[in-house]
Amino acid sequence: MDRGTGRRKADNDDAPLAKSGSGGAAQAPKFDKKTIALVYDFDGTLSPKPMQEYAFLPQIGADPAAFWAESNALAKEAQADPLITYMHLLYKKAKEKGVRIDRRDLVAQGRHVELFPGVTEWFDTIGDYVKSHAQSHGVALRHYLISSGLTEIVEGTSIYKRFHNVFASEYWFEAYDLPYPKRVITDTGKTQYLFRINKGVEDLGESINQHMPEAVRPIPFANMIYFGDGDTDVPSMAVTRKNGGHAVAVYPPRGSRAKCVDLFKAQRCDFFAPADYRTGSELFKRTCLLLDRILADIRVQEEMWRLGRGVKYAFAESTTVGTSTKFN
Ligand SMILES: [Mg+2]
Repeated sequence: MDRGTGRRKADNDDAPLAKSGSGGAAQAPKFDKKTIALVYDFDGTLSPKPMQEYAFLPQIGADPAAFWAESNALAKEAQADPLITYMHLLYKKAKEKGVRIDRRDLVAQGRHVELFPGVTEWFDTIGDYVKSHAQSHGVALRHYLISSGLTEIVEGTSIYKRFHNVFASEYWFEAYDLPYPKRVITDTGKTQYLFRINKGVEDLGESINQHMPEAVRPIPFANMIYFGDGDTDVPSMAVTRKNGGHAVAVYPPRGSRAKCVDLFKAQRCDFFAPADYRTGSELFKRTCLLLDRILADIRVQEEMWRLGRGVKYAFAESTTVGTSTKFN
């Protein structure tokens, strides 16, 4: 497994949801912008509480509210990055209590993480929806996670295998004293991973900063929906929407929707809904509405691409753009 390198792939999730009808046209060029990416935040979006609150904090006898207050105060006082601070403080407190938690323990903690209603079934039902509503052959659906939480805990959850890739904060465990942050995913840092998905550069060993023309990026932002729950998702929602993609904000089913209303009013999201992922919920229906638009757009783009190929030579002569049109 390539966990940690950003190259992990979920089982069977890359198979096109609708197969091409003609087996004999394998060599013919095809319109290839048919992959849809649903990208999720974790804490507060798929799970009600920060993932460290289900097992890590109870194991070291820490009160969650007090822990986060201490961590945030410490970061502010020291002008340290809040995420590096929490990752350090977790293990500092565990050490003080004489509790040793290694990588395997963290993964085991993932089993205790609670998910919002319907999350477990969501991946299949949304997959079925895309399959039955796709207007062109070969549409594929992927799910991605981008979280400031811990990769190791996510790995222990029942939905880990559903993600094409998981980008989350992670520790080195061979540090000489306390586990040391290996990768820290901040609010703004999350946007890097959106561009990695957009450009198809998911191997974290490869630079994301090389120029890549829009036309050759495998997953256009227009094919993306970002799901998040609050202020930490603002940069990701803004980047996704400004590039033609979509964003959905969620709030706890029996909690306040004030944050979502703020995000909606500030045009950070297309829709908001309670974090109820069950079939027929508001979240389900509004996500399907966005998918309808994406699927129709894929069909329109494909038709434009076909038309563009038909007039390619005339187009190329008149515009001197070479052998490709802007639809390639
Ligand atoms: Mg969140």
